[in-house]
Formats: sequence, structure tokens, C-alpha cells
Amino acid sequence: MKVQALVENILALDVYESLAGVQKKAVLHVFSETLRALTTSFLDRGFTWLLPVITSKITDPLWPDPGASIELRPELEIYGEHVRLTQSMILHKQLLVAAGYEKIFILSPNIRIERRERAKTGRHAYEFTQLDFEVRGAKREDIFRLVEDVIVETVEHLEDCCRKEFSQLGVEPEKPRTPFKVYTRRELEEKYGKRWETLAPLEAEEPFWVTDIPREFYDYEDLEKGEWRNYDLYLPTYGEVLSGAEREWQYDKILYKIKRDGVSVDAYAYYLGLARRGLLVPSAGAGIGVERLVLWLTKRSHIAEVQPFPRVPGIVLPF
Ligand code: AMP
Ligand code: MG
Repeated sequence: MKVQALVENILALDVYESLAGVQKKAVLHVFSETLRALTTSFLDRGFTWLLPVITSKITDPLWPDPGASIELRPELEIYGEHVRLTQSMILHKQLLVAAGYEKIFILSPNIRIERRERAKTGRHAYEFTQLDFEVRGAKREDIFRLVEDVIVETVEHLEDCCRKEFSQLGVEPEKPRTPFKVYTRRELEEKYGKRWETLAPLEAEEPFWVTDIPREFYDYEDLEKGEWRNYDLYLPTYGEVLSGAEREWQYDKILYKIKRDGVSVDAYAYYLGLARRGLLVPSAGAGIGVERLVLWLTKRSHIAEVQPFPRVPGIVLPF
């Protein structure tokens, strides 16, 4: 009900009034300091910060992903060529590590035209930003430790810099205990059934990792064991905030998976060519949904509350 009321508020929203409000200003200040903390943590660990692309001939297929609910994949024609709007920069990250960049991150705007009913989840926007990072040669556990440390450093920074804003919002940032627990998707399915993604975070008191989730071809799959070396990070109450994986790099396997998934071989021809020439390399990484991270940090109810210009599925505002 609370979320339904919020959706109605967004529909009635005056963009100027909302931006001028004290609460929005407090949230956006925390957002700004969160970006400072996240980017500093990655830069301090030797990552190279790159800027995003918005149009490209190649983007994340977002398929098959049990969590995806995309009603349109926008394409543009520019200079006589068809390009897509970025759904994620995963394949660009793989190209970068293949070309010898050891550790990279990008604040990457993603355009995903989510179905309208996702306005009610309070967690979906049709434009959002990922802090998308990749580490050449890394394994799952390396990424777990990195992300845990970055989140703790971010909360510590916010505790120092944003006392006034948290008091205006009537909440405290929560510093989680590390290391986070790790569950397999099967364990959670056994305990909670098919709705584990919604139910498990409601019971959780600390963030937790989930591994082995069937999805897109670029996540590493052990075909013999039938296990995926990927992971999601879940936050208490708020749910998924990050998806990532160890990556596929071998041509035969990638081609097999692309065909198995019914994804277009032609659309990924250049990428497949790199793999065929043996240029792709093992890596691991993830994308952190920064709006969702700030939603949890500021304990708001709806993603519209953390975006200056809300991009709620089904609702196109004048700005
Ligand atoms: P994905 O790889 O598709 O899971 O996206 C990576 C992260 O981006 C997710 O874990 C979320 O934190 C965030 N994210 C994905 N879709 C949305 C959306 N529609 N609105 C806001 N954040 C999203
Ligand atoms: Mg995901």
C-alpha cells in the first residue's frame, strides 16, 4: 500500500516541488557522498575509472535472465547504422580486460524499458546507473572481499560526512558485519520456494551473497557440474543490489551458449571473433546498482525518492 501511494505521488509529482524539498536535498547529498566514497575506494585499490558509452552496436542481451522484464530494447539509426542504447557495459568490460586493463570501473547509465508494473516494486527505474567493474584474472572470492570492504568504507564515510542529512531523514546508516554469508540459489529455493528473491531479504539482518544463478551466456558455467560461478548481493529488506560473475572466455563454449539461449550470433559477431582469436581472458566483476545502494543507505521506500529526475517504469515526467 505504501508503495502504491508513492506511485500515485509520483504521478502527481511536480518535479520542481520535489527537487526543492528538504528530504530530496538530504538524499541527494548522501548520494553525492556515496559516489565520492565508492569511486575513492576503487581508485585507492588501483582501478582505472573510465567513462561510459550510451550507444553501441553491442550491448547486454539481458537474456535469459529470470529477473529481467524488459518490454522494449530501444534502437537508433545513426549514420546509417543501427545502434542500441546501453543495457549494461558487460561486454565492453570484457573487451577492456582482454586489451590489458587489469582493473577498471565505469559509472554506466543503463536504459532498460522495464514493464510498467515494475513501478510498484519500488526498486526499478527505466534509467539507472551501475558502478560496473571488472578485474582481470579475479575469482569470485576476490570480488566478495572487495565489495564487502567498499561497502563498509562507504558507510564509514557517510557516518562522518552526513550526520545532518541522516538526522533530517530520521535514519542511521547501517554498517554491516563482514564477511557476508554465502548461500546457493538452490538452498534458498529449498527454504523459501520460487519467491526466494523477495522472501529471503525480508528475513535477513545482514547483506548476503547468492551464487549459482542461471542467466546470460557471459557468466561462467561449469557445464559438467551444472553450476554457475556467478553471484548476487542482497540487502536486508531491499533485495538485490549487485550482480556479477566469473566470466566465460572460451570461444566454443560462448558460441554453444549463445546458440542454446537463442541469442543472435550475428549481433555478437565481433565479440565472437575476439573469442575465436583467443583474445578474451578470464576475469570477474560485477555491477552495483547505485540508486538501490542509496535507497538502502537512506532507508527510502521507492527508487523515485533517490533520483533527481525519477525514471519510474510507465511514468514519463516533463523533465
Ligand atoms: P543486473 O546485472 O541486470 O542484475 O544489474 C545490475 C544491478 O543494477 C542490479 O543488481 C541492480 O542493483 C541494478 N538494477 C538492475 N535493474 C535495475 C532497474 N531497472 N532499476 C534500478 N536498478 C537496477
Ligand atoms: Mg541481477
